[in-house]
Amino acid sequence: MQNNSNKNVLLSLSALLLLIACATSPTGRSQLEFFPSSQIAQMGKAAYQQIKQETPVSKDPQINRYIRCVANAITPLVPPLENGEQWEVTVFKADQANAFALPGGHIGIYTGLLSVAENADQLAAVIGHEIGHVIAEHANARMSTQYATQAGLQLIQALAGVPGSATGQQLMALMGVGAQVGIILPFSRAQESEADILGLRYMAQAGFDPRQSIQLWRNMLAADGGRKPPEFLSTHPSEKARISELEQHLPQALDIYQQALSEGRRPKCKP
Ligand SMILES: [Zn+2]
Repeated sequence: MQNNSNKNVLLSLSALLLLIACATSPTGRSQLEFFPSSQIAQMGKAAYQQIKQETPVSKDPQINRYIRCVANAITPLVPPLENGEQWEVTVFKADQANAFALPGGHIGIYTGLLSVAENADQLAAVIGHEIGHVIAEHANARMSTQYATQAGLQLIQALAGVPGSATGQQLMALMGVGAQVGIILPFSRAQESEADILGLRYMAQAGFDPRQSIQLWRNMLAADGGRKPPEFLSTHPSEKARISELEQHLPQALDIYQQALSEGRRPKCKP
């Protein structure tokens, strides 16, 4: 009987986890979100500080002005961050054509990106994509999925009565944030697609030409394979697949772009 009631506890616990953790992303996908946004934002901030300590920050005023000009045109128009957090941009002096945005609104742009993103519209495509990851809470979803896999394994072992496996109480403890869960995980292909679609919308509503996103990915495709950046490398759809997906969403983005232009939004960001 004791064993049975343990099973019941575990089963209702897992059902509860799924109930509270399932959220809908901005494009209507459902995803797991176990962790409070504030906690995720804190982890994002800590990771950002660490990257800042390890990577030289560019002091070049012209490059900083240019990149901030693009980012600052986009960020006021996207859904606000939780707890009144403000977007923050750091330009890193590194040859990689890379960029990232961490939970809590921390954006990092590597100067090497400017050799692939050849104008402000293409830079906006990258920044829009990165912001899309943050708005859609992809880090939370990614960590939750990884966490659920670990907790799920323990649950199965407990249910199967494997000696030495987790008890209900241990599972409760597991629901706290495990130190083993990292904030920086590669994104899934579905998340990359979603960030692309959101990015297209974000750049267009700020008055950047969404057609340039396609040219950006062509440039990425043409870029030397050995120097492919980590974030863009992750589990990205092939550039060809992503270009055709972007083309699919382009008509809608062009409408948004036209609207932005008619409202006088046309950022003049000069490299
Ligand atoms: Zn991405």
